Amino acid sequence: MDEARITEIVRQVLAEFQAGGGTVAKAAAAPAASPSVATVVPSGGNDGIFGDIEDAINASVAAQAQLAAMGMDMRKKIVSAIRQTALAESRRLAELAVADTGMGRADHKQAKNDLATEKTPGTEDLVPDCFTGDHGMTFVDYAPFGVIGSITPCTNPTSTIINHGIAMIAAGNSVVFGPHPAAIQSTLEAIRTLNRAIIRAGGPPNLLTSIAEPTLRTAKILMTHPKVNLLVATGGASVVKAAMTSGKRAIAAGPGNPPVVVDETADLPKAARDIIAGASFDNNMPCICEKECFVVQTVADQLILEMQHAGAYLINRQHVDSLTKILINEEGHPNREYVGKSPQVLLSAIGLSAPSNTDLVICETAEEHPFVQEELLMPILAIVRVPDYNAAVEAAVRAEHGFRHTAIIHTARIDRITDFAKRIRVNLFVANGPCGAVLGSGGEGYMAMTIAGPTGEGACTPRIFSIRRRVALPGSLRVL
Ligand code: NAD
Repeated sequence: MDEARITEIVRQVLAEFQAGGGTVAKAAAAPAASPSVATVVPSGGNDGIFGDIEDAINASVAAQAQLAAMGMDMRKKIVSAIRQTALAESRRLAELAVADTGMGRADHKQAKNDLATEKTPGTEDLVPDCFTGDHGMTFVDYAPFGVIGSITPCTNPTSTIINHGIAMIAAGNSVVFGPHPAAIQSTLEAIRTLNRAIIRAGGPPNLLTSIAEPTLRTAKILMTHPKVNLLVATGGASVVKAAMTSGKRAIAAGPGNPPVVVDETADLPKAARDIIAGASFDNNMPCICEKECFVVQTVADQLILEMQHAGAYLINRQHVDSLTKILINEEGHPNREYVGKSPQVLLSAIGLSAPSNTDLVICETAEEHPFVQEELLMPILAIVRVPDYNAAVEAAVRAEHGFRHTAIIHTARIDRITDFAKRIRVNLFVANGPCGAVLGSGGEGYMAMTIAGPTGEGACTPRIFSIRRRVALPGSLRVL
């Protein structure tokens, strides 16, 4: 079928779709991974939000077929329109996320939205590999998977939609989102907002879809649906396990418990400021935030003092005991009621009142304490004294639990940066900076909201959301 015919069929499908009514369209321009699909284009979508998961998936199949026929320049236009709208709506979406979930900080969620908008790579990430030699040329190009099912967390509801919207569409896919039930309103509003921007740019409707009332049941349907070509699961251990046992190709991004190591050669005032900036960000909800600190004994007092000078609120052993009873449940895990709450809320639970500009609570504990070993997702950083650098690394490796997620070190010794990175083997590693630097916030490089440790893709970009296709031209196009 030639290009003109495909364009004509897509034009007809769009016209029928926009006229409304549950149109059954033979989508001749088929999605990359499932050619010649007879697509039911459902009615009732409200800027991508459907009442039924089957409708959301079918609309996504049709949208992907339309996108595939529109070409690369349209993808660029769509990505640019998403960036423009997401930037303009960043504050509103951030405030909505806080109101919706009762977690985190609007100023920091806005910063996360902005970072996702500005530093998520677009189509430029899809640079083909090319090999030339005596036998001609072979190239490897990046093709869409088709429909991606993306299960998203409540900790970063709107920034994940922006990041996935840009990266997955840049790679030519459509996306059916499975939002966290605790973050429905903000997640759905982000989807609706971006869909409107896509249509204004001339793109197809329903490139991003979801259902109005997501549940674990609908998440499971998404995970096993034959029309979903790739599964991306971002969340805790349970969703990672579900994705990896779904029988479908899955990219799984799981929990972290990032340790920060401070040795006796570190620039302590800077380390203190960096650790506070990282650990207090959005009340410590991002998975990459510093979550416990191992400091060499000889500089521990000084580090704690510097952190207090930089605004951290130090609590004593008795306060730690009282807070532990409240923040840790009977099973030894974090009490969800306090996840993402401010330092003021945490401290008022034990009768303390911190100044309103306090961003982080700090305390000293033993290595075994749940504030060290559990991923709290609260703005409280446990500090553990260790005899020397080697003991710090060993404790950090234990506390990271093999998640292969994120780790941070403050040291003046390059040999220790190398050594720690080799021993902890995480996807994201920062030396002498706050955690966010590794995702482009005050550091170089791109940002990603999905850090796939369990399945090994690391910080995901459009290339990761693509299929590699290899084309050989033996004897041709070697022009030297
Ligand atoms: P969560 O695991 O409670 O939920 C995440 C998503 O998975 C939600 O949409 C939820 O509905 C769904 N889900 C949960 N269990 C499921 C199951 N058994 N089957 C199908 N779907 C299921 O996590 P959360 O509280 O929303 O987010 C916080 C967690 O996510 C933390 O552990 C954090 O470290 C992690 N996280 C990781 C990354 C990363 O890139 N690695 C990014 C953000 C958050």
